[in-house]
This record gives sequence, C-alpha cells and structure tokens, in this order.
Amino acid sequence: MSRWHQDSCTSPNVFPNSTDGIPQCHTCHAVPDLAKLAADVAGYSPWPPLPPDEPLSDLHLFWPPTVKYTQRNGPIDPNNNHVNQVIPESNPSPASSSPVSAVYSFTLGSDQFRILWLSSPRQPDDRIHVNLEICGFDDHPDYESTSYTWGGANDDNTLSKPVFVGPYWHVLYQTENCWSMLKFLRSTRTRRAVWVDAICINQQDGMERANQVSKMGSIYRQASGLIVFLGLDAAEPLPRGRVYRQKRLLSSLKARELRKIL
Ligand SMILES: [Zn+2]
Repeated sequence: MSRWHQDSCTSPNVFPNSTDGIPQCHTCHAVPDLAKLAADVAGYSPWPPLPPDEPLSDLHLFWPPTVKYTQRNGPIDPNNNHVNQVIPESNPSPASSSPVSAVYSFTLGSDQFRILWLSSPRQPDDRIHVNLEICGFDDHPDYESTSYTWGGANDDNTLSKPVFVGPYWHVLYQTENCWSMLKFLRSTRTRRAVWVDAICINQQDGMERANQVSKMGSIYRQASGLIVFLGLDAAEPLPRGRVYRQKRLLSSLKARELRKIL
C-alpha cells in the first residue's frame, strides 16, 4: 500500500519531521512505516511482466514433410531433437500482480500524459516530494523530459528509494538511479516540471503503459529541454539554489536528426 494515512483522513496536512524528514500527518497523526512499505514492493519488478507463452497446441505448427519426425512425450533427447515435448504452463511470476496504489487514480486517456512537479526542498537532504499533473498534448505547461537508465551504472533495478507523491505524500518506491536524478534536479528556489517515465506512467497498468510508450515521441518533442542523467559521478554540483538549464549541446543539424529519431 502506498497510502499510509488513517482511512478516515480526507484532509491531509503533511509535514516532514524536523529530525529525520519522515512525513507525518497533523490531521490523522499517521506516520508511514517505510520499512513495511519497502517490504511490500520488494517482490515487484519495475519491468512489466512478459506475456505467457502460448501452449504449443495453439500455435498450429506443422513439421516439414521432407524431414523425419517422431512423436513422443518426455524430455528432449539430446541425440534427436525432433521430439514433441510437453511443456507445462509456467506459473505467473510475482511481478504479474499489481501492487495496490493510491498514486494513480485512473488510466490515462490517449490524449493525456502526466507531468511531475518536483517540490522545492528546504534542505538538500529533504525527502523527495512530487506532485503529478495530468495534461493534454495540446495544453500543458513547459516541462523538461529526462533520459536515464532505471538501474544506473550498477544495473540495480530494485525499487528501494521512496518518493512521496501528492498532498497525501503517498509512497512510491523507485530505483536508486531514478531517485538520485530527482534529488539532483530539485531547486531550492522553485518547483521544477519534468517528465520521468518511471513515475509519470503507471508501470503496473499495462494498457496505460502501452499507450504512453506509443506517445513518447510527442512527449519528448514537446518538452522544452532534455535532461540526460549519466549518474551522480558525472554530475557537477551547482551553487545552492541553482538548477541545470538546457545547454546547446546539439548543433541544429544534430537536433534535426534527433527529432527524426523521436
Ligand atoms: Zn492524514
């Protein structure tokens, strides 16, 4: 569960604790149990599950008449692979069931996408808080798109780092690399609007994910800039209160080539 308030709480009033930064609600006096919430998502993969293989009997396969054929049930004979093997259907993986989430209230329409607003921290180590705004492709505020690897340099796809979402501060666990990027992009002066695939798309909603992936070209084209996050090792610290701006890294020719790709 990403919601940690009392069920009766309808007017959240959340502030980070001054000592450890963990949010607490002044309305219902609830505090998230981050260890339990992390354990709840420990078995989930950020990648959508692969569809199950169709039973061989549904594939309408036939053997070429010019090749010798033997029909027999049992294990594959290493000396004769022309064998009909009975393959049991695999059990669904734990990742195929969706975790209950209060973050995404409904599936996005084909003309919609989400923008992530990074809240401004008071201190650099404050917990990461974001708000999600649903926009139309022809009606949205300026935002920057992002490019990064979910697993980072260590290819660690574990959902281990909490990001707090919306007025309820729902907990949404992300990979450490995604979390590091969000933390790096925050400004102490203002909110910042970005598009981050792992959060702006409900990864557990197969229909929404497929639809949004097909729209990614438009999402990148309509962004005011593209942030390429290569990891904290490649990032240079900026003076307090400053944010990274789009740089003219691409010549006009390369920019046109990039648009073709997208
Ligand atoms: Zn509450």
